[in-house]
Amino acid sequence: MKHSKVIDLLKSTNTLHEVTAKGWVRTFRNNQFIALNDGSTINNIQCVVDFENTPDETLKRITTGAAICVTGMLSESRGAGQNVEIQVTKITILGDSDPDKFPMQPKKHSLEFLRENAHLRVRTNAFGAIMRVRSTLAFAVHQYFQEKGFFYVNTPVITGADAEGAGEMFQVTSLPLDNLPKNEEGNIDYKKDFFGKHTNLTVSGQLEGETFAMALGQIYTFGPTFRAENSNTSRHLAEFWMIEPEVAFNDLADNMDLAEDFIKYVVKYTVAKCEDDLKFLEGRLLEEEKSKPLADRSEMALLEKLNFVLENNFKRVSYTEAIDILRDSTPNKKKKFQYIINEWGADLQSEHERFLVEKHFKCPVILFDYPAKIKAFYMRLNDNTEPGKETVRAMDILFPGIGEIVGGSQREERYDVLVEKMRALGIDEEELWWYLDTRRFGSAVHSGFGLGFERLVLFVTGMTNIRDVIPFPRTPHNAEF
Ligand code: ATP
Ligand code: MG
Ligand code: MG
Ligand code: MG
Repeated sequence: MKHSKVIDLLKSTNTLHEVTAKGWVRTFRNNQFIALNDGSTINNIQCVVDFENTPDETLKRITTGAAICVTGMLSESRGAGQNVEIQVTKITILGDSDPDKFPMQPKKHSLEFLRENAHLRVRTNAFGAIMRVRSTLAFAVHQYFQEKGFFYVNTPVITGADAEGAGEMFQVTSLPLDNLPKNEEGNIDYKKDFFGKHTNLTVSGQLEGETFAMALGQIYTFGPTFRAENSNTSRHLAEFWMIEPEVAFNDLADNMDLAEDFIKYVVKYTVAKCEDDLKFLEGRLLEEEKSKPLADRSEMALLEKLNFVLENNFKRVSYTEAIDILRDSTPNKKKKFQYIINEWGADLQSEHERFLVEKHFKCPVILFDYPAKIKAFYMRLNDNTEPGKETVRAMDILFPGIGEIVGGSQREERYDVLVEKMRALGIDEEELWWYLDTRRFGSAVHSGFGLGFERLVLFVTGMTNIRDVIPFPRTPHNAEF
């Protein structure tokens, strides 16, 4: 039977005609009022049951979680906060839900409990909202790049390359683990493996993406990325989605402009499209804030924070300036940071990043020109840097509540400099012969960045744990679903 979506029914100004709706019961009050949700919107439609003419057997089966089909007159509603309701004339139970066993009863569940029920948590208001926001953001990502003439490139999930050199890779093998073939030196003989070489799940599509940018001009990837992160933080997943644009002839300043423009576009698009979901999430956060001590409460509500980001320029600060600020903010006696930074050359911890954003500049920050030693091999070395203080044209974008959301750089376009750097780091030139071809044939200035999609969803939804913004989180010891 043809049925209408709840989101369309709720917007309808044309009442007094028969409609059919299908969805899941959220609540059933007084044997009369069903709050029906079909996932199309955070809002439920009220269905008024004619209980005198409905068999008791059917009324008993209208329980939270049950799938039902209702037909009736769409009518003006006298209830607060709703314009229309359905005066039900026919109700069919499509799928029962045992009220003693269904875990998603209408009460406040802890996020931990919900994570253990990742397959059902999307039936709650909060997770329905988060997943609709996530989907809208993903659409905006494609729309932004497609409108700007970028081409969408799918880089391989199985690869031999370790772009970041951080060694956090999941190995891929078809070899029998209990009987690994060994070579003469006693090491695993990957020549006997499926691909005839050692392979892993991709940690970034950048290197492959660069080869395409050097032909198509402007490309982006948007796909799953895998890192065997040992850490159990609220910002790291073992499987996450990364957006990686790469643009020929762009330098570092162009790259910063692109990243800022891109983030603002997708946030703006989503704020406009997901008003109801974001208002709901904002309300949920405000409730949470009330339980915190005054000093720890957030200064801005969610939508205010999102609008602030849209309306203000990201602050661009060099790494060297940032270290000076952090050093000055860390008087020796009064230890503000767990890890005190005194040395130029140290990598920033997320507590430093968040201090710069949340306490010092009070806006998103783009840090650039990092020490070469703490960044990946492919970044463009700055000209005229002091020996021992070499910097690269890298940039990280830091966001409130999150820290690093983007990591990017202008790439080293000079073949000789790149090879020298690879040799110094012990990176096998022969393994990356295809990557080096981009520098052998028609090399040019180019740059790009990687944005962790879940970190963006965290920011827009105001959630604080990355496990709560991806449908099925993968973290150490967690691949249940
Ligand atoms: P971090 O310092 O937070 O560990 P990173 O510097 O290792 O991040 P990059 O290699 O620069 O990360 O990757 C680009 C982007 O991908 C990051 O800015 C971040 O948004 C995202 N990202 C990296 N690792 C993860 C992860 N394990 N889970 C989710 N997102 C991630
Ligand atoms: Mg990392
Ligand atoms: Mg980092
Ligand atoms: Mg990074």
